[in-house]
Amino acid sequence: MAILPTTIRALARRAFLSRVRYCNSESEAALHIMTPARMVELRCPHCHASHWEIDSDYRGADLAGGVELSYPERDYFCPHCKRTGPGYAVLQKSPPEFFLQPHPRYPMSENDFAYWVEILRQNFPDDPMLADVYKTWRPSGGAGLRRILPAWLRRLLAG
Ligand SMILES: [Zn+2]
Repeated sequence: MAILPTTIRALARRAFLSRVRYCNSESEAALHIMTPARMVELRCPHCHASHWEIDSDYRGADLAGGVELSYPERDYFCPHCKRTGPGYAVLQKSPPEFFLQPHPRYPMSENDFAYWVEILRQNFPDDPMLADVYKTWRPSGGAGLRRILPAWLRRLLAG
């Protein structure tokens, strides 16, 4: 039996909607967007030690029928005192454009990018994005600068 184009469209639509769960229509699904992932340094409310997480300022939980929580309201596991719960204070966050580089509208300087790559290396050494650093993942603001740097310095920055 031949599959009609309308059937194919219906199947594609169902696949799309099952991927963006909780949504009843494409327009609602289009709104279901998290803000870019960021590295966030958080201070534990119990032991006051800090650790890093990769999270989004806005997770879209309210659109999914849940409650959107601010960072202090979210539960995190503290690797120092081994407790899980809310109450974390945000100490610093990577720029929202960091994981989106190279981005034509939100460029990042070579120095800023190198700084945050180092934070990523130190705190998330297994992050798959590190395999692409200075290849497909590089700062859009720094291409011109990198060309004029000496080779030894480029290697150092590329780590
Ligand atoms: Zn702690």
